[in-house]
Amino acid sequence: MQRVRLLVFNAALGVLDYRVPQGVTIPFGSIVAAPLGPRQILGIVWEAERLSAQEVPDAKLRPLLEVMPVPPMSERLRRLIEWTADYYCAPLSAVARMALGSTAALRGGGTSTEYRLTGAEPARLTPQRAAALDALQGEQASIRELAELAGVSEGVLRGMVGAGLLEAVTVDLDRPYPPAAPDFAQPVLSDLQRSAADVFVHAVQDARFAPFLLDGVTGSGKTECYFEAVAEALRLDRQVLILLPEIALTENFLRRFEHRFGVTPILWHSSLKSSERRRAWRAIVQGNAQVIVGARSALFLPYANLGLIVVDEAHEISFKQDDGVRYNARDVAVMRAKFEGLPIILASATPALETMQLAEAGVYRKIDLPSRFGGAQLPDIQVLDLREQAPERGRWLAPPLVEALRDRLAKGEQSLLFLNRRGYAPLTLCRNCGYRFQCPNCTAWLVEHRFSRRLACHHCGHEAPVPDACPECGTGDCLVACGPGVERIADEVAEILPEARTALVTSDTMNNPQAIGEFVAMAESKAIDVIIGTQLVTKGYHFPDLTLVGVVDADLGLEGGDLRAGERTYQQIAQVAGRAGRGEKPGEVLIQTRHPEASVIAALANGDRDAFYAAETEARRDAGAPPFGRWAAIIVSSEDQAEALSAARAIGGTAPDLPDMLVLGPAPAPLALLRGRHRFRLLINARRSAELQKTLRSWLDPLDFPKGVRVNIDIDPYSF
Ligand code: ADP
Ligand code: ZN
Repeated sequence: MQRVRLLVFNAALGVLDYRVPQGVTIPFGSIVAAPLGPRQILGIVWEAERLSAQEVPDAKLRPLLEVMPVPPMSERLRRLIEWTADYYCAPLSAVARMALGSTAALRGGGTSTEYRLTGAEPARLTPQRAAALDALQGEQASIRELAELAGVSEGVLRGMVGAGLLEAVTVDLDRPYPPAAPDFAQPVLSDLQRSAADVFVHAVQDARFAPFLLDGVTGSGKTECYFEAVAEALRLDRQVLILLPEIALTENFLRRFEHRFGVTPILWHSSLKSSERRRAWRAIVQGNAQVIVGARSALFLPYANLGLIVVDEAHEISFKQDDGVRYNARDVAVMRAKFEGLPIILASATPALETMQLAEAGVYRKIDLPSRFGGAQLPDIQVLDLREQAPERGRWLAPPLVEALRDRLAKGEQSLLFLNRRGYAPLTLCRNCGYRFQCPNCTAWLVEHRFSRRLACHHCGHEAPVPDACPECGTGDCLVACGPGVERIADEVAEILPEARTALVTSDTMNNPQAIGEFVAMAESKAIDVIIGTQLVTKGYHFPDLTLVGVVDADLGLEGGDLRAGERTYQQIAQVAGRAGRGEKPGEVLIQTRHPEASVIAALANGDRDAFYAAETEARRDAGAPPFGRWAAIIVSSEDQAEALSAARAIGGTAPDLPDMLVLGPAPAPLALLRGRHRFRLLINARRSAELQKTLRSWLDPLDFPKGVRVNIDIDPYSF
């Protein structure tokens, strides 16, 4: 009898064996439906010898039900899934699920029904219908998605269908995407760009594993360079995957792509509508999707004929996923290129130290773009020592920065103030009794958001209105905001430069593509004088008349004391500084700090990136940190504090005693309470040669914990 072994998408079920009807062969990688009790389950047919499972006697095997009408997942992708699960100590099923993308798309394209407004003008409306009419202008989606969008029940929308206000449209899920034209608008590349682009073009033609680090200063034209490689892949009819760190950056990118190739690329991210998701997934597996732009999750999709991977802003920490499978998309992308035999381009102006080391060791080929495109100069960077140049009382901008802002406003040039802190103030307290507003679910202060008049936790999303009186002592009108957030800086700018037109750019204000699009259009048409923003404004934007960048608090990122604080601070400030002087007028950057002597700040001020990497290399070498040694974190959590602690102690108590591994803790995790769960942490520092994952598995797998305890392993953690 013929049997197959399935990898199913639920770790608790493990691996399941089934019978295959006589005379039928089902290739590995096929996605199939199988019976499980009274229900059905989906799985991928896997090589049995690679998945251990309890042998089920022939007589007990149930037959497979159906093979899904999609191409089997390639062996290369199956090996990548195994590698990822192995490296990050994650369940294979959880990684495989990311490859599946859209289960709804498996059964074939066909059509789906969506709804849109008919445009009919009703005489009288219930308030709910009126709200829905307003919210759904220009939208087309399923009833469920429209209901979510409009914040009304599905019943209200069905009623509107009956009343002729909404109409059904049939959408063909296999309708082709308009083709991208490799030569739609070819730019004239500089000599430097040309020679870099040629290297990439040849690598695409060669179709072998070839990792590149495209190391170019901000404004050097990295995008135009790798677009040439994209064009070559299009000519050869191969697919391209471009990973971007944040979907907020995408708006700008899409426009540039369209300008170059005549159409927008296909987007893949977690908030796609289900019909868009199904359509994109089917086009990807069938080879009908050419260029896919996505966040991390696009990495595992079953591309039919991938020819190139690009990771833009490759140093960004958001490539590291912090829940579920804790993987680093930049690193897994390189592995995917390796398994698939493809070129991969990591583009950055401030590469991570790990990436730099691999380039220096010759593992990655480094391609440099050392100067800005079109003769623009890198900005002049000055440090403002806040101990000497103190802002006025209750203010946060030092006099020279205020002067510089005035000067730009007078000249009709634009300025940008960067502070990586959302909200009005990071801490709110009572002037009378000192009561501090803390999140009930997390070890974190609630952040006041003045525009929405709410206190919010940035970790779990808890929100409460700003109260009129202190909940502790009852004193009215007693709340004091401590420290600045971007909203407070916006207020300060409004006070000192009342005539300036300002824009606040944070994830609170720029939470949809329209808002971002409007902001970019206004900034480009010079309808904005001063931009105030969080890390959202640090990258991607190109405003030629922006000549001043003010870093409100350069020390903010250094306070955390975590391993990558220095690097992250350097990257952020270098990126935001890179927004200044991108056109003909020179740029100036003012960095406010209390620690001008810190090596990060000094390197920024001197424009000496090598000095920064040298200092950082030494610090990491001393700490046994990556790339010299490796870190892993074990986070033990439970809603019950005692239970979490005793589980963490049990782990600590059974730690292996190895010469190449050091186990620290357990100690309360930096966020000791997160979303209502108490968290303890063990840190493992290992030599590079240590068999870290193997040791972790043989250490943790035999341990048993109460049901409410969760044990998460984080390999190469970014923040701990
Ligand atoms: P980076 O990503 O390296 O910071 P960009 O790719 O954003 O740089 O390029 C900076 C600016 O220069 C952009 O506005 C881009 O359109 C422009 N640019 C770059 N290369 C060319 C070129 N060959 N021809 C015309 N404009 C270019
Ligand atoms: Zn919280």
